Amino acid sequence: MMFILFIYGACLGSFLVAMADRYVTGESPLFPPSHCVTCSTRLAPWQMVPILSYLFLRGRCAYCQAIISPTILLMEGTTALLLTTWTPTLTLPLLWLILWAFAALSDVQTQAFPGWLSWATLSISLIGQPWPTILFVASLFGLVRWLWPHWSHPRIGDGDLEMMIGYWVFFGSLSMAHWLLLACSLALLTIRTPARFAFLPYLLISALIWWLWP
Ligand SMILES: [Zn+2]
Repeated sequence: MMFILFIYGACLGSFLVAMADRYVTGESPLFPPSHCVTCSTRLAPWQMVPILSYLFLRGRCAYCQAIISPTILLMEGTTALLLTTWTPTLTLPLLWLILWAFAALSDVQTQAFPGWLSWATLSISLIGQPWPTILFVASLFGLVRWLWPHWSHPRIGDGDLEMMIGYWVFFGSLSMAHWLLLACSLALLTIRTPARFAFLPYLLISALIWWLWP
């Protein structure tokens, strides 16, 4: 079962990277079929096997030798590991995390992600929650949504805050503190130009580490 989940996870990671790339370039999710982003040559089925193809091709396009982003391998491996931890009770937080992984992949390239994702992740985090939590979180979310467009230079992205609200609902205040501490530390250690950067990838990496650590 674990092996099957690993395979599904690797495929899911591959799909997320492809969809994020297409969102960034404005391509349709369906057309054209999978191709090299540099030379646009259509990929053969054996070049699309998650994890294995990247290793077999040694991270380069078989046609033009352009370097394939290592993010692809990293994402496929991580979602593969992530899915091996699946149990029925973890379905919602896992789904939530996977959607934010998609958002982080878009954020790292454009500092934006599709608007439906905020609503989808909010709904997922509120399923089965008590009414007071739902009301509180929905008002908080509404406040962020209303305030941010009125702010000329917000210090933090509304997407980052939305992910934080969801994390708090799923994992509670203490876990959230650990999560933010690690995400901020990673950002402080690696960011060279602190004027403006995508924070979602750091939030995601931290969330993945805290998820996989146990
Ligand atoms: Zn190529």
